[in-house]
Amino acid sequence: MTDALHILKVALDVPLDRVFDYRTDKPNTQIGQYVVVPFGARKMIGVVVGISDTSSIESKKLKSIIRLDPEVIFDEQSFKLFQFCSQYYHYPLGQTILSAVPSRLKKINTKAMTKKYLYRLTPKAIELGIDQLPPRQTTLKRVVMALIDATLLDEASLRSISSSWKKSIETLDEMGWIEKEEITLDDKVYIQAPIPSLNDEQKKAFDEISKTNKTFAAWLLYGITGSGKTEVYIRLIEEALKKEHAQVLVLVPEINLTPQLESRFRARFEKYMLVTLHSHLTDNERLTHWRLAKEGQAQIVIGTRLSIFTPMPHLSLIIIDEEHDASFKQQEGLRYHARDVAIFRAKSENIPIVMGTATPSLETWFNATKTKDAKKFGFLKLTSRAVLDSTLPEIKCIDISKSTVTKGFSPYLVEAIRDRLNKKEQSLIFINRRGFAPVLLCSSCQWTGRCHRCSSRLVVHLNQKRLRCHHCGHDEKMPLQCPSCGNTDLYPTGLGTQRVEETIKEFFPEARILRVDRDSTKTKEALNDLFLKMKNREIDILIGTQMLSKGHDFPYLSLVGVLDTDQALYSPDFRASERLFSQLMQVSGRAGRAKTKGEVYIQTAFPNHPIFEALKTHDYENFANELLKERELAELSPFAFLVLLKGEAHQLAHVMQFLNDAMIHAQNLSAHVTVYNPVRPMMERLKGMERAQLVLQASSRVALQKLLNDWVPYLRENKLAQKVKWVVDVDPLEF
Ligand code: ADP
Ligand code: ZN
Ligand code: ZN
Repeated sequence: MTDALHILKVALDVPLDRVFDYRTDKPNTQIGQYVVVPFGARKMIGVVVGISDTSSIESKKLKSIIRLDPEVIFDEQSFKLFQFCSQYYHYPLGQTILSAVPSRLKKINTKAMTKKYLYRLTPKAIELGIDQLPPRQTTLKRVVMALIDATLLDEASLRSISSSWKKSIETLDEMGWIEKEEITLDDKVYIQAPIPSLNDEQKKAFDEISKTNKTFAAWLLYGITGSGKTEVYIRLIEEALKKEHAQVLVLVPEINLTPQLESRFRARFEKYMLVTLHSHLTDNERLTHWRLAKEGQAQIVIGTRLSIFTPMPHLSLIIIDEEHDASFKQQEGLRYHARDVAIFRAKSENIPIVMGTATPSLETWFNATKTKDAKKFGFLKLTSRAVLDSTLPEIKCIDISKSTVTKGFSPYLVEAIRDRLNKKEQSLIFINRRGFAPVLLCSSCQWTGRCHRCSSRLVVHLNQKRLRCHHCGHDEKMPLQCPSCGNTDLYPTGLGTQRVEETIKEFFPEARILRVDRDSTKTKEALNDLFLKMKNREIDILIGTQMLSKGHDFPYLSLVGVLDTDQALYSPDFRASERLFSQLMQVSGRAGRAKTKGEVYIQTAFPNHPIFEALKTHDYENFANELLKERELAELSPFAFLVLLKGEAHQLAHVMQFLNDAMIHAQNLSAHVTVYNPVRPMMERLKGMERAQLVLQASSRVALQKLLNDWVPYLRENKLAQKVKWVVDVDPLEF
């Protein structure tokens, strides 16, 4: 035993905040390599996070690794990022790392990359046009429409249009309608795209941000939809990529990463390798793209939340589009906020970060406009729409307390829709679904269907004649008579999308109507289909929920009707009105984006509420400033930092005991943190589990983090923790 031992510190995907020592006979092992190790009776995949020649474990008891993977899966910068996330979100390092790298890494061969193609229509196809296709071939039509729309598509984009895209491509090939080009991974693709010259505000934004090209700076690029933010991003990326080897990361919400956006970037960056990272890629594609980024070959990465963790050795610029979007926050496991992690990363790599949005989160708004702290964000504004002739829609409130409302619709809104139908323009009816699902109500005894596993009401699905719980998925037959009093007069109440659809059909039997919500549009395919149908004017009236609110251009849409949103005005969630404003602003932005003037009708019993006043004048700034005042008084984010501890168990007593204990311990740990009593959340019971939660609040992030450092390990040690499932959510978005 003369040789020094090689001890590997291995992080595993287990809920323990520690690393495990293993022995190896391979002296050249590096941090960031995957290993397979024995763990109890199992074999587990882990990552090497440290190498040492000592261990606190007796050498006889040390187990050896089973296998070592040659690929180093993260570099030093990524490791820093993982460590930061693990510490800041108080989530074990092993679980942090293993939730941030592609999971099937072990199983996939590096050489498994097959030939890839880009597809486009031939001039013949473009000349003949879609009407020449056989009428029933909807997939074929969809593919062709998408190709007309985006010019050039890769396989992943085609797959998102239809799972049977291959067959369509074959058919089109036989017809002589399609051309394909192979992409060898560093190939060039040429597409002509008109390049607008920047207007004054865009130019100013570009100049200011470019000045900080070499060092950390965080920028808020605040501009309404269509004001040309994306154009500014593109110029900044071009500028950043002038540096040899440079790489750029663009984060977007999942729903915005459309084939159209992708091809807009591809068209402008024909000389560069661009890869996407999102959930509609196959594991193999995802891995290939991730590797290209990690090896520095891909110069542009466009991805959703998780791609903030992509190792990029020459990262020079980060862009976040729709900075305020709640989908940047992961709501399970490692509960990170991709924007906040991105800011940390930009700081740590000393590069600029640009956050664009029409409705900044109040945190970002505060950082950009209110604090004198020079380390906070730079602020740049784009105030008008970039395309001449396109104007903002006119927003009007309809006071439903003063008007006769038939099945949820005021006569003004009905007339406005009729008017669009006559003019062959499109309308969108928007329902804020939260809290507006229809429930079955007994007219005699007021009985309503409730889920026996959750504290929620069952939602009526009229077409299927079923009642469903939207929280746990419980599903039962709709009763024909009241289970409580036997009355047969049961009726659905509340505005669900299906109810609205029925009503619209009654009002306008001749109209072509489409409903979009989670029930009707489960797949990305269906959603894509919808956008193409709208473009093709195959729909007159669209009915939908928040899924519709952003990122898509509907050139013939000139009316948006907003049904009851009043519940959000008086919601217990302090972010409800911020969210409602941004939703309504986005959904209004759908109207009149081309040359048709848009109108938005909001039905409300509170037409004088400040939120509507602000919307009418498109005045986010005033509204945000008012909200900030309220938040300051209430000591809420961004004036205070919050942490949520959520627990659930079969027995309420166990959760309460656990939380009470946690509360007392926290109170003893720090005088600078306010610890609130445990309370039941809105949804008291979920999937048969009793729930409760408590909030910690502090004006100092440092004090809060210091407390968490002692508190979270204490929670892990707590014996009750075996009976109680709990999570700590740092900077929670939802309560
Ligand atoms: P945003 O990202 O703010 O929604 P975009 O960058 O997508 O805005 O711009 C909206 C539309 O205006 C796009 O069609 C874009 O090509 C066009 N556009 C952007 N900047 C200009 C400009 N300076 N001149 C003319 N058109 C522009
Ligand atoms: Zn009854
Ligand atoms: Zn349920």
